[in-house]
Amino acid sequence: MFVAGIILLALGVASFIGGYASMASLSSVDSFVGGYFVIVLGVILICVGTPLFIVGLVKKIKRAKAANAAPSPYAAPQYQAPQYQAPQYQQPQQPQQPQAKTCPQCGAAVPAGNAFCPNCGAQIQ
Ligand SMILES: [Zn+2]
Repeated sequence: MFVAGIILLALGVASFIGGYASMASLSSVDSFVGGYFVIVLGVILICVGTPLFIVGLVKKIKRAKAANAAPSPYAAPQYQAPQYQAPQYQQPQQPQQPQAKTCPQCGAAVPAGNAFCPNCGAQIQ
């Protein structure tokens, strides 16, 4: 985002200057209209690129401040915590938790949540 803002800003300024130069140097109507559109294009690029540039710059500054201000003992657990809380480790465990019970009467497999055995009809506790 930061680099995109710089590129858009540079393109906008370049097209703005180029359009202004073509308007000033060339006297024909076509060049004047073309230069006008190039200037408008440059203004649009500047308008789009400036927020991207500012947002990207602020994010960079915040990251730099966080990296510099936070002491290493505090920074280390902050980076390790998200790795342990990752849902990828919790998701494989959840499908294993539903318990397939066995019927105490006939030993048939009873799906979790069933109150009675589907084979012999005995009550499952
Ligand atoms: Zn049974």
